[in-house]
Amino acid sequence: MSNSTRCAACKSLRRRCSEDCALAPYFPANNPQRFACVHRIYGASNVTKILEQLPIHARATTVDSMTFEASSRIQDPVYGCTQIIFKLQRQIVHAQYEIAKVQAELALHSAQHQMQQQNHTTNYQDQNQYYQAAFEQEEFHFDQ
Ligand SMILES: [Zn+2]
Repeated sequence: MSNSTRCAACKSLRRRCSEDCALAPYFPANNPQRFACVHRIYGASNVTKILEQLPIHARATTVDSMTFEASSRIQDPVYGCTQIIFKLQRQIVHAQYEIAKVQAELALHSAQHQMQQQNHTTNYQDQNQYYQAAFEQEEFHFDQ
């Protein structure tokens, strides 16, 4: 690559960008902020070492996650992206609690509904027995 088309990494490091520059595919010249962010946290040589140890198909995802981690670390020097992870974990725990609560309420309502159905059936059976008894008494009464 000529100097006019150097990748953002080589441009930032003021070096020539070779044809086989390991960083060029992931740090295009039109997004210098992406490299600046990763370079600030990891350092260019560490980023290059990490990428060279990985198969090519995993490198783009690696650079995406490093960029996310680095920008989170710059925004929040204490917690970095773990702050986001903790927040999401709390949301998951809260959502699981809500699900368990709703499932318990559903189970309770289902049990109450079944009991009402049984009571209704029992009342109906009691009523039938009552009418049958009354009818039998009537019959008995007629016989007298
Ligand atoms: Zn380069």
